[in-house]
Amino acid sequence: MGAMHSSSPPALVWFRQDLRLADNPALAAATGGLAAARRILPVYVLDPDAAGRWAPGGAGRWWLHYSLESLGRSLAACGAPLLLVRGRAEIVIPALADAVGAAEVFAGRLYEPWARERDQRIAEALEAAGRQLRLSTSSLLREPTQVRSGSGKPYAVYTPFAKAMAAMGGPAAPLPAPERLQGLEAPPPGEALADWALLPRRGWADAFATVWTPGEAGATARLAEFAAGPVRQYAARRNDPGVDGSSGLSPHLHWGEISPRQVWAAVQAAMPGEVVPGAPAWTFLSEVLWREFSYHVLWHRPGLPEAPLRQRYAAFPWAPDAALLRAWERGRTGYPIVDAGMRQLWRHGWMHNRVRMIAASLLVKHLLQPWQHGAAWFWDTLVDADLAANSAGWQWVAGSGSDAAPYFRVFNPILQGEKFDPSGRYVRRFVPELAKLPDRYLHRPWEAPEPALREAGLILDRDYPRPVVEHAEGRRRALEALAQMVTAA
Ligand code: FAD
Repeated sequence: MGAMHSSSPPALVWFRQDLRLADNPALAAATGGLAAARRILPVYVLDPDAAGRWAPGGAGRWWLHYSLESLGRSLAACGAPLLLVRGRAEIVIPALADAVGAAEVFAGRLYEPWARERDQRIAEALEAAGRQLRLSTSSLLREPTQVRSGSGKPYAVYTPFAKAMAAMGGPAAPLPAPERLQGLEAPPPGEALADWALLPRRGWADAFATVWTPGEAGATARLAEFAAGPVRQYAARRNDPGVDGSSGLSPHLHWGEISPRQVWAAVQAAMPGEVVPGAPAWTFLSEVLWREFSYHVLWHRPGLPEAPLRQRYAAFPWAPDAALLRAWERGRTGYPIVDAGMRQLWRHGWMHNRVRMIAASLLVKHLLQPWQHGAAWFWDTLVDADLAANSAGWQWVAGSGSDAAPYFRVFNPILQGEKFDPSGRYVRRFVPELAKLPDRYLHRPWEAPEPALREAGLILDRDYPRPVVEHAEGRRRALEALAQMVTAA
């Protein structure tokens, strides 16, 4: 890379998990405001080694491909094309800053433990060369360090955390997208997105695009659509996996194609009023605060993705079993609501929240598989795979997290199915071999009498499995394992 210093040094804008132009504080700070006075070099670095096992999984890479394509188009249209570089960011970023003579590198702050350590090293490397890494709050409403309990400690329980967030008032208004940007006249050569081979080779992800439109435009459209109507019915419909009652914003939020501030502002505009528990917008916004809480916990307890936060769970007698794990992954556990969820995940890279809880519970309780194994599968197959939310979600289900559901509360997958999918719309959609069963047997096909099975064209064991473990037996084993752990502690 040749030197291209000029009298007014350009700035590097390093896109990471903020793949958008609107409400992007790093971009705004780099350009020096809306006038877009300063020349910038926008860059994305593919650095899978830094994240180790938490590099984006298959579904995440699919998303990233299209999101970068979209971001690249928008940036080029504004006059500052996106540079794609593969390599170790701690080498690439200081070298690029040096090559173009940038005194400052702007980026949105990341909260994953590996990213924090990497940013620390990069900041030091830049400083040693007289340059600065400038991080701004881009993907959260508040920095995890900004929210403190009365005693000055981080929160370990969600409700007081959410109340404290609400008491701090709504976030600042989102920043508009820049209309023009000034790129470099002769930017260093970059790579072609296609060469990164982010898309899976076989047809696995083909159906993702029927549900998702990665990129800022897709994110903005989805938010607008949700805020225009469905948000008002969110409280009533969010637990029904058979309807699209939730926002579907999670992958867009994860990749930062939209910011939580933008989400907050749109929902506030649709449902005005103070945001406090019980307010009309609260049910939805409190979920956005769960996201904040997950990041708060990840920041203060960086071991969250790896090990139980509650020490005693280190002694839990898991019984790893590859065949059981595989049956769960493939949606062949014999519990229709769980199998529907696991197949939705495989087909669309996403699963409804209620079903995530039921499916995860079956894995860690009835099947006694370590939550880390379930989290790893989710990591590879979710388009919204997010280290904070996924790790917190799994530890919540496993009983070992901050503010977790107690392990002894074992979901009954049959009753959960009957309660949340009473019409069977969800199960019939994703487990078509059960579609013709009458509602009363849909969540318990093994109880269907022979004529009902015949009429539905269903042969158990051949077309659809019986439960891999009977519910009462699974529950008993789970509670016994818990008792063993308590004794061991
Ligand atoms: P909505 O109901 O519309 O909620 C709006 C937004 O709030 C979501 O987009 C999301 O950003 C946030 N949110 C909602 N619920 C939660 C929650 N429980 N924890 C944290 N943030 C939340 N969410 C992820 O984004 N990535 C994950 O990898 C992930 N893994 C999970 C694993 C398990 C075992 C469980 C039980 C939950 C997990 N969740 C995860 C949380 C939740 O299931 C999804 O955020 C939600 O289903 C996304 O759909 P939505 O955008 O329609 O949500």
